[in-house]
Amino acid sequence: MNHALTALHDARDETVATLADLIRIPSVGGTPAESEIVHHVARLLQAEGVEVDLWPIPVAELAARPDFPGMEVDRDEAWGLVARLPGTDADARSLMFNGHLDVVPPGERTTWSADPYSGDLRDGHAWGRGACDMKGGFVAALSALLALHRSGTRPRGDVLLAAVVGEEDGGLGTYAALARGWRADACVITEPTALDVLAANGGALTFRLRVPGLAAHACARTSGVSAVEKFQLIFPVLRALEAARNREVDPMMHRWDVAYPLEIGTVRAGDWASTVPDLLVAEGRFGVALDEPVDEARAVFERTVAEACAGDPWLKEHPVTVEWWGGQFASGRCPSGTDLVRRVQAAHDGPAPAVVGAPYGSDLRLLTAAGIPTVQYGPGVGYGHCPDEKVSLSQVFACAETLVRMATVDAPADA
Ligand SMILES: [Zn+2]
Repeated sequence: MNHALTALHDARDETVATLADLIRIPSVGGTPAESEIVHHVARLLQAEGVEVDLWPIPVAELAARPDFPGMEVDRDEAWGLVARLPGTDADARSLMFNGHLDVVPPGERTTWSADPYSGDLRDGHAWGRGACDMKGGFVAALSALLALHRSGTRPRGDVLLAAVVGEEDGGLGTYAALARGWRADACVITEPTALDVLAANGGALTFRLRVPGLAAHACARTSGVSAVEKFQLIFPVLRALEAARNREVDPMMHRWDVAYPLEIGTVRAGDWASTVPDLLVAEGRFGVALDEPVDEARAVFERTVAEACAGDPWLKEHPVTVEWWGGQFASGRCPSGTDLVRRVQAAHDGPAPAVVGAPYGSDLRLLTAAGIPTVQYGPGVGYGHCPDEKVSLSQVFACAETLVRMATVDAPADA
């Protein structure tokens, strides 16, 4: 009889209510609500008597470090939060659950069929921005931790819950938790994986291209150089680069039609309707392959752009510049020598979950780089970031059960 699982089941209604409450806090990265939600969760844990470390993140100090993972929104403040259930054996392996509380903006309100922050519960799902990415997964981890705590279950090793912010724009929160000294012998990030085990992430590097032109009155447009036309030379070259980099990919990435996407997300050009545009600024993300060093990926990209410029008389003299800014997600992979994947599979109720990689960056690479074997395993299908985002409540509960079993089954030492 596993008392923690019983406690988890007894708290189902409360778990759902907590999830709805969290969805109703519009914790978009860089807004005051991003801090508010951390304090909300901290209060919830403190009210239960769980040991928490809640601290103001020294944002500017961390952002100045050479390995800082990037940040795309301004933050006056940010908070770190790690909860800890102490284990009975100081030598036993510890386990961290990690989940981010920040969400991306909802986009155009008209694309949603209801208030993006409704936290509505219907059709077995919780709805709203962040439901899938990843308040559903966070609440699964939170409810697992609370079930262990309330039932008086004492795992052998420490069980930690890291509630992080700034994941969507780089990884500030997990970086800050590591900088504060928090470590574990294994980590499960409860990002949405539809309960598959995600053991590797491609990386994603945010870039900015500045394509120069020459302004002229549009009535005499041939006396100028259109930055838009020059961008038309660059864009297909980038598409070709993407195709070349996806010809052969790691087998874990085979389920994706494009394992390492290169996409331009924003384009701005010109400042007047009847002026030849003298500047085009395009921003995008560049996929980093598994095991590919970030500086090698950047070099390939920069060389490709430079070569394209060399073939055009104007761009040869006025080359496109490449700037790396914002989120700089290296790729990451759970090391093959650990038993973490097997532990998640064994704790999962039902057929063993598939082991896959994914084309998006996540905090996994920060944790594995710190020597912590890490996988993603969580409720929800897709990646969020879309209208009418939702998460399956049954998957939230299934994820929580797996986490409770992982914490309570005595993990054998690594071979
Ligand atoms: Zn996420």
